[in-house]
Amino acid sequence: MLGKIIDGIVKKTWSDEDIQKYVGKFKYACLVYSTNADLRHYSASGGTTTAILISSLQAGIIDGAVVCKAVLLDGKVRAAFYIAKTPEEMMESQGSKYVETRFLAEVLPLIREFNGKLAVVGLPCDLKALKRWQEKDKTIGDKVMFTIGLVCGHNSKTDLIDKVSERLEKQVGSKLKSYRFRFGHWRGKIEACFENGVVETPPSKIFNDYQNLFFFSERKCLACYDHYAYDADITTGDVWLFRLKSDPVKKTGVIVRTQKGEAVFQNAVSNKAVMYEMLDVRDIMDGQSRIGPSHYNVSARSRVSKYFALKLKDPVGEKVKWHSWVNAFVTLANLRLSESKWGKKIIFLTPRPLLKAYLFFKKGLESLK
Ligand SMILES: Cc1cc2nc3c(=O)[nH]c(=O)nc-3n(C[C@H](O)[C@H](O)[C@H](O)COP(=O)(O)OP(=O)(O)OC[C@H]3O[C@@H](n4cnc5c(N)ncnc54)[C@H](O)[C@@H]3O)c2cc1C
Ligand code: SF4
Repeated sequence: MLGKIIDGIVKKTWSDEDIQKYVGKFKYACLVYSTNADLRHYSASGGTTTAILISSLQAGIIDGAVVCKAVLLDGKVRAAFYIAKTPEEMMESQGSKYVETRFLAEVLPLIREFNGKLAVVGLPCDLKALKRWQEKDKTIGDKVMFTIGLVCGHNSKTDLIDKVSERLEKQVGSKLKSYRFRFGHWRGKIEACFENGVVETPPSKIFNDYQNLFFFSERKCLACYDHYAYDADITTGDVWLFRLKSDPVKKTGVIVRTQKGEAVFQNAVSNKAVMYEMLDVRDIMDGQSRIGPSHYNVSARSRVSKYFALKLKDPVGEKVKWHSWVNAFVTLANLRLSESKWGKKIIFLTPRPLLKAYLFFKKGLESLK
């Protein structure tokens, strides 16, 4: 009940034109979850992405999927792409990796060397780049059967995860053995396993509060307006609606865009790998009502970029209201601060209640219509 009231208060009005520009072309949207509880355990939302991959593998639509997992490289948490050829290997990729990757550099050789049909999961910018390769290189184009794009607010540079993991290692007095950025319901928890056998599951906010303030954001995200993965066959993301907070099963918001996407989604439905209910795409947009429009508004970031010695083009021509201007200013200021040595020190010395208040201020700006 309370959830419905909060949703009603923050609800925005989305015109057909808004849907077209923010979401792009699509067939329909739905609220989905994997029917396999094991598969939902470490999933980012409802485990839908992995459920679609596994049911496509079992139906012979693909022989493997390009996915990524968190690995420890020289003791540092990183994301590495690989081709998963079994359901177990696909499950190893579950959960979101909030750390920069080298998508094309790692994924193109993997696809070229693979002998068979593939699905690819990726962030909107990476799938856009892959699409160009699918069109110009037949060896790539012929192998990629479909793509699943993840809704994406922005991604973070390695500095953030390095600092968070360094703090955890100091607390526990042991080196990390494995790391999950987030699992579990709603905002979820981190899972950090250490060489001395200790397993810590702190709340994901010890990472996400810095991330949501755009400290250590990748620079490319400032120029990006593709929140919902225009170029994917299927888009999957969280549905941050308060009415779903008390739902015992966390769900995925799915946007089915193309015929290929519909075929693989319906295959998962008919195999009972997923359960779904139809959803108005506006519900998904309401769940992203802060970050969706502010992500799209490159115009605001372009206007303030001159104050931060950056030159950002404006490809979208959005109106820049005062609050979008201030929000863009805060975003760029935070990103630039996190790029300097002294800035990093200030950020990590800031007491958490102050950081939280700053985050509420930023979220407030993002919520204004
Ligand atoms: C950097 C990032 C930012 C995101 N921002 C938002 C957001 O603002 N709003 C929102 O609603 N959702 C966002 N998501 C998407 C969301 O967190 C889930 O990934 C999505 O809901 C799918 O969940 P699932 O349970 O279906 O996937 P799972 O079954 O858990 O599978 C996760 C899949 O994601 C792939 N993956 C994980 N991280 C990466 C990565 N960095 N690059 C490429 N592939 C990856 C894995 O290979 C795996 O196939 C973001 C994800 C990432 C990685
Ligand atoms: S915000 Fe855009 S550029 Fe940044 S990681 Fe996401 S899709 Fe890529």
